[in-house]
Amino acid sequence: MKKIYVKEMRRLLLCAADKIIEKEPYLTELDMAIGDGDHGTGMKRGFTALKKMLECEEFREMDTLCKAVGVELLKSMGGASGVIFGTMFLGGIRYLPHEPYADCSQLVQWLSEGEASVERRGKTKPGQKTMLDALMPAVTAMGRSCRSSDDIVRMLQAGSEGAIQGMEESKGMRSRAGRSKNFREETIGLPDPGAVSTSLIFEAFAEEIKKCEGKER
Ligand code: ADP
Ligand code: MG
Repeated sequence: MKKIYVKEMRRLLLCAADKIIEKEPYLTELDMAIGDGDHGTGMKRGFTALKKMLECEEFREMDTLCKAVGVELLKSMGGASGVIFGTMFLGGIRYLPHEPYADCSQLVQWLSEGEASVERRGKTKPGQKTMLDALMPAVTAMGRSCRSSDDIVRMLQAGSEGAIQGMEESKGMRSRAGRSKNFREETIGLPDPGAVSTSLIFEAFAEEIKKCEGKER
C-alpha cells in the first residue's frame, strides 16, 4: 500500500480510540502505582471525545483530519498528557499534505517532527521513562522501513514493534520526568503509563491498516 487515504486514517484512529478506552483500567492501575492515577481516565476521556468527533464530522484532507485529532485531544484531556498527546499529532502537521492521502515518507516526517515537538514541549528526552520511550523507537523503526520500502502496511507494523519494544524497555527505567519522577526507584519494573498508551496507538494502527489492505477505495 503506497498511500493511505483519509477514510483509512480515520479507521486507524477509531481503532486506537477503542484500544485506549478498553485498556483504561490497566492505564489507571499503572498511573496509580507510579503517578497520580489520572492517566487512564484522562486518556479515556480524550479518546472518547475523539471517537465522537470522528463519527460526527467529515474530513477531506490528511492535514485537516490530523490537526482536528490533535486539537480534540488537547481540548478534552487536560493535564500533561493532553498537551503531550496533542503535540504528538500537531507538532509535525505541516508535513502532511492538504490532500485526501499521504505516503510513507510524509507519515514518517509528520510523526518524527511530532516526537521532536514533544521533547521540546515536555523538556524531556527518551530514556527518562515517558511516552517518548515508545514514540521514539516507533518513529525510528518507521523511518528505517520507509527507506527500504514504500509499503505503509509494513511501515506501520515496524512502528508497532518499535513502540512495544520501547514500552517494554521503559520497565527498566527510573522515572525522571513528569509526576512519576517523585517515585524514582519505585518506578522500576513497571512500564511508563504514557509509553503503554503510545504502544496501544501504534499497535492499533498496524492492526487496522492490515484490514484496510485489499479493500475497495
Ligand atoms: P499528569 O502527569 O499530568 O498526571 P498523565 O497522568 O495523564 O498526566 O500522563 C502521564 C504520562 O505523561 C506519563 O506516563 C508520561 O508518559 C507522560 N509525560 C509526563 N510528563 C512528560 C514530559 N515532560 N515529556 C513527555 N512525556 C511526559
Ligand atoms: Mg497522572
